[in-house]
Amino acid sequence: MEMKNKKTKIVATIGPASESEKILQKMIKEGMDVARLNFSHGDHDWHSRIINKIKKISQETGSNVGILADLQGPRIRVSVAGNLKVRKGETVLISDVAYRKNLADFSAPTFYLDYPEIIKKLKIDQEILVEDGLLKFRITEKRKNFLKAKVLNGGVVRNHKGVNIPGANLDIEVITPKDEKDLQFALDKDVDFVALSFARNGKDIERLRKKIIKILGRETDLPQIVAKIERKEAVDNLCEILKVTDLVMVARGDLGIEMNESQVALLQKEIVAKSLKNSRPVIVATQMLESMIYNPRPTRAEVSDVTNAVIDHADAVMLSGETANGKYPVESVRVMEKIISTTEESPFDDVYKSLRLNINSEYAVIVRSACELAKSFGTKAIVMISMSGFTARLVSHFRPDQFILTATGSEKVWRQLSAVWGVRPYFFAQKNIDTFIDKMLEKAKNEKILKKGDQVVVILGKIPSGEKMRLVGIRKIK
Ligand code: PEP
Repeated sequence: MEMKNKKTKIVATIGPASESEKILQKMIKEGMDVARLNFSHGDHDWHSRIINKIKKISQETGSNVGILADLQGPRIRVSVAGNLKVRKGETVLISDVAYRKNLADFSAPTFYLDYPEIIKKLKIDQEILVEDGLLKFRITEKRKNFLKAKVLNGGVVRNHKGVNIPGANLDIEVITPKDEKDLQFALDKDVDFVALSFARNGKDIERLRKKIIKILGRETDLPQIVAKIERKEAVDNLCEILKVTDLVMVARGDLGIEMNESQVALLQKEIVAKSLKNSRPVIVATQMLESMIYNPRPTRAEVSDVTNAVIDHADAVMLSGETANGKYPVESVRVMEKIISTTEESPFDDVYKSLRLNINSEYAVIVRSACELAKSFGTKAIVMISMSGFTARLVSHFRPDQFILTATGSEKVWRQLSAVWGVRPYFFAQKNIDTFIDKMLEKAKNEKILKKGDQVVVILGKIPSGEKMRLVGIRKIK
């Protein structure tokens, strides 16, 4: 399957709207690079079927699709029978699911939260938000088994919808028992990325990595960790999170509830810039083309949102409900791809000037000079072998105009590079890496990315004597 020529990658969430092989195939063709499985929904059987389908398509078509398992984390959810209509100003009862039977006689509208002993942990005047804050309640009275709350924003309370209680000190373990089971399953299925929801600090990321190492019984060839930045603590601890995470996600849905929504766009810019500086791939997520859940075309404001994320040089932009349960999953990927390629062709995309990097090593400077060389000589691509993906990510940090053609001997690294800006990865199963560059250039020629006479910058890891040195040079395509 022909790959799209865009540099910014697309992460698409899979759900009922996109579960068929036919739709998945179309989404990959339109430019989906990473499939996100949201473990807040679906059982292991369902996730297993999706992973098998994606791997089958990838094998049959040679397309590179990473698989991201997004762990639910300590998400509190509503439990309610049917749809509960609540009106602004009225009083509702909120309780813990454990008390469902005892409260069955209350006449006021009642719903439950699936977090044990939650009543004890909440205070009068605290706000409870449901379904991305569409519904809002303020606690007015606290009893032993339930809370009384005033409806501030009315609507319909639906079963299983997410709950946010900004500022509540719930002290919930970030990796819940459900996450442990989902993690075991995801590792059995050999996923490429594991996302940690509601991460607070670097320790949470390290705890997840330790669990992964323990389950797999090895310290290498691990899935990469995506730190979802969605609570204030994570924003405050961003520097330490960046030191230990592999990737970052700006999870704007919860971020806009846990913090004031007016801050979201500014935080996005800050998180993207800091991630880039630390050479950590960063995904901008949530509501990017939200109206396409129902409509075949996005709003102009949504187009502008994707455009701005591309101009900010995020590695990837993400689709959630649009592809998981919307009416137009394929069209959403197509529209996103079109916005990305149009923006990348424009001069606005060229304003990324930061050649500064927090990684202060000789190698980083060599890679930077390779990018400068490619720019000065107008070469078509920067090419390298990157067995761990590190060199490819480092080159990508500098956001060169040229494609970053990367040969790797690891199938997992090949898939993990699906999330990295501008990288076109090629996997070779053979042991003899000396042939990788030639084979990759041949493939790139067949794919019409390169043609005879084009120049490319080559970054080599070693010189033949075996002495550890890096070489950078220009090669002409024959
Ligand atoms: C978000 O809150 O923006 C997000 C991506 O997380 P989730 O979809 O898991 O709530």
